[in-house]
Amino acid sequence: MTPEAPAKAERWTAQWKELYEQVIETGLCTGCAGCVVTCPHDVIGYEHEEGKYKPFHLEEELGLSNCIHGEKGCTTCTRACPRFGSWESAANLHLFGRERKDDEMAGIWEQLLLTRATDKTTHEKGQDGGFVSAMLVWLLDNGYIDGALVSGVEHDDAWKAKPVVVRNRDEVLATAGSRYTYCANPLALRDAKELGLSRLALVGMGCQTSSPPVMWDRKAGKVSKPFQFTIGLLCSKTFDDAIFPELFEAKYGLNKQDMLKMNIKGVFQIWMKDGSYHEIDLKECHQWTRTGCKTCPDFAAEHSDIATGGIGKDNDWTLTIVRTKLGVEVVERMIRDGVIESKPAQDDEVAMKLLRTLSIVSRRRWPEWAEKSVSVGVPPPKKKTT
Ligand SMILES: Cc1cc2nc3c(=O)[nH]c(=O)nc-3n(C[C@H](O)[C@H](O)[C@H](O)COP(=O)(O)OP(=O)(O)OC[C@H]3O[C@@H](n4cnc5c(N)ncnc54)[C@H](O)[C@@H]3O)c2cc1C
Ligand code: SF4
Ligand code: SF4
Repeated sequence: MTPEAPAKAERWTAQWKELYEQVIETGLCTGCAGCVVTCPHDVIGYEHEEGKYKPFHLEEELGLSNCIHGEKGCTTCTRACPRFGSWESAANLHLFGRERKDDEMAGIWEQLLLTRATDKTTHEKGQDGGFVSAMLVWLLDNGYIDGALVSGVEHDDAWKAKPVVVRNRDEVLATAGSRYTYCANPLALRDAKELGLSRLALVGMGCQTSSPPVMWDRKAGKVSKPFQFTIGLLCSKTFDDAIFPELFEAKYGLNKQDMLKMNIKGVFQIWMKDGSYHEIDLKECHQWTRTGCKTCPDFAAEHSDIATGGIGKDNDWTLTIVRTKLGVEVVERMIRDGVIESKPAQDDEVAMKLLRTLSIVSRRRWPEWAEKSVSVGVPPPKKKTT
């Protein structure tokens, strides 16, 4: 008997039309800008502004919901979108060679560490342990990358985040710390290309760091080549820029330009330049949750080489989830070089519990009608006892 020929992989035909119908119109779009920066015809626009943070089509020939290049066979935008189709599965298979197990709520990893930069300045400038900044400097110094896409701020507003490229220690340290409004770091790809950079690290929340792995898996081609390393930031949500005038200033008299640092640890913490410290209940901030975050299931930046967060009992360490083999190689070399110190994270039971709980909370936001695999293994909410 003649053996059956292996089934041919189905041809990928989805274009902007499908992206618009299945991701943008349905509310799954996070605004990550993956489709924007990879469009080979430059016909996807994006406004990095309050209430926007969404892609739109620039050519109106076929209406805003269809694309003439898509009709002729271009499919890059759907290949780059980390919310289109079976995105979680695509990213997992590409990065880890397997699906996540049902109970792996925070994704797949190799090592769980608490780390911090040994360099005092890096540690102090960092949001938690300064691990991300220490790693960017190390990756640049050791030739893994020639630039990184991160979040800087506007020159006239210290809290208006904007995507920027960094190429050296000073630039890395100038962009350390966390802003809790949205910053579509992939948008800095264009500047990186203009500077002639071709080996980049992408720092970003899970919505952004999932884009390169889905591109690689879906064979998006040369647009995916510059991404060499992804560093994820754990994330429950980002806030509209309007939270500054409408809540912090209007209710608490806290002026944006007088703020020194902010963090979220069960409450919104704000340190002012005059030395005062303020806590704001997260429930109060809820109404300023950015629309693009409302259906997001990925707390733990599951498809990064290394994901980082600040949960746990120690404020000045970075929870470091080393996910890929490349991530392991880099972290081990950084430890050997004395650039970071580390300790096992599993000893911090609070952090471990929070990682799982917050990952479950985020997964529950994924709509029932959308790709089913994302919700597999998610336990139902406990019934409230009276
Ligand atoms: C919007 C947001 C929400 C977060 N939510 C949580 C959370 O709920 N729980 C938790 O444990 N951790 C959260 N984090 C991660 C945490 O705040 C730290 O970024 C992480 O622990 C790394 O700390 P570090 O000291 O090693 O990083 P640093 O050395 O301080 O480097 C931080 C990097 O993040 C980049 N960055 C800053 N703001 C943004 C932004 N808005 N968008 C994209 N990139 C940015 C910077 O450019 C820098 O490269 C969040 C981060 C962000 C940006
Ligand atoms: S999720 Fe990202 S890639 Fe997908 S449509 Fe939205 S901006 Fe584009
Ligand atoms: S919750 Fe965080 S990871 Fe999810 S879409 Fe919003 S910013 Fe992105």
